[in-house]
Amino acid sequence: MRKKIFIVNPWIEDFSAFDQWIKPVPLLKIARWLKDHNFEIYFVDCLDRSIWGGKTKKWNSGKFRETVIEKPDVLSFVPRKFRIFGGTPGECYKILKDIKGVSYIFTGIPITYWYTGFSKLTHILKELFPEAIIVAGGNYATLLPKHAESHCKIDLILTASNYNDLEKKISRLLDFKPVSSLFEAFSDLSFYPNNNKTTSILTTQGCPFKCTYCAVPILYSGIHRRSVKSVISEITYFAAEGIEDVAFFDDALLVDGERYFREILKEIIKRKIPLRFHLPNAIHARYLTQEIADLMMEANFKTVRIGVENIDENFSTVTGGKVNAVILEKAVSFLKKAGFTHEEVGAYVMFGAPGEEFESVKRSVEFVHHLGIKSILVTYSPVPGTPDFKRYAQSFPEILREPLLHNKVIPMYIHRSEYEYLKRYSDSLNRKLLLSSTSTIHGEI
Ligand code: SF4
Repeated sequence: MRKKIFIVNPWIEDFSAFDQWIKPVPLLKIARWLKDHNFEIYFVDCLDRSIWGGKTKKWNSGKFRETVIEKPDVLSFVPRKFRIFGGTPGECYKILKDIKGVSYIFTGIPITYWYTGFSKLTHILKELFPEAIIVAGGNYATLLPKHAESHCKIDLILTASNYNDLEKKISRLLDFKPVSSLFEAFSDLSFYPNNNKTTSILTTQGCPFKCTYCAVPILYSGIHRRSVKSVISEITYFAAEGIEDVAFFDDALLVDGERYFREILKEIIKRKIPLRFHLPNAIHARYLTQEIADLMMEANFKTVRIGVENIDENFSTVTGGKVNAVILEKAVSFLKKAGFTHEEVGAYVMFGAPGEEFESVKRSVEFVHHLGIKSILVTYSPVPGTPDFKRYAQSFPEILREPLLHNKVIPMYIHRSEYEYLKRYSDSLNRKLLLSSTSTIHGEI
């Protein structure tokens, strides 16, 4: 008899959440791969806007449906409402209770401070499926296994240094011999209603940098790439399924881009694949070339984000040296020449990281504006296991015991006046760009 596997993407509990073409790629890959190996799969995405509702915004991005819930005590100092995004526990319960005979359940979350929703979900799962083995993956369970074991109803935490490792561990657990690669498996969109217009894709896992605030270097070993052929087949499949917008969620898409991403772009153009593409996860400015920028424009990339964080030389050197002002300026010049508009290109500037100074954040915002692209102020969120987490814990030791305090909104309220000043400043400079006479990126380079 075929084993029944249930895969669940949890709802989010947070102050804010926005759907930037996000789909639970690891869970969708596992679903497809296990289906290909003759398992019977049930899949529920508690964040699917086409099931639970929400508002559609530009290019099919959107707002999840929200339900205000009681704020956890530890976050009482944050003057915002705490919400569920996606299906509520009661609604999900009603759907889940009709599923019978499940032997394994796979689930997980990518962010430590979302654990309250995850914990509630695992309690529901254990109540409904007491015989099933609940397997948790994702960053929260991987980075904080003891916390996850004590707060959630899970039987097993599956950690893996890359997809090949994960493939071995799942096949051993479910006792079968894989005949195809998990990493190359397409995200299975058959679990979504027909009006689903967005999805995400992963072509690469890992990153050559070791930024002191980032989880990637501690989660993945080396850089692993899918074949160009498989990536193009997956994108073609998305188009045939009625998808209109696809986001690349790679951490190092442009690394060795001349030999890899360039080939992907050329194939998209050659096959005239009619999709819009987005890069919300930020690209490395240092690997952008004029040719890649031109090909991205031709392939219909609409959202380009550059990971800057801070252009201060000292900050960059101490935190990993992924970018500096000269590199950024050059990358923006390539995008300008390719014809990207300041509506399409933005640079993430980080606020609140340990050791970061207010003036250097302000200078970074100004520099990004000077280049003629918008600055997007993002706040620091401490990630367990990183060097910056340890530094941050010296002044804010509560993060060691309570993952809810990793929330990205916390720096906004700990350093409230500085944050509000910078946010207003960044917004006003961005407005100036919008009001400018031309629609292409301007600013003297
Ligand atoms: S370059 Fe980006 S993905 Fe790589 S370690 Fe730094 S922040 Fe993380």
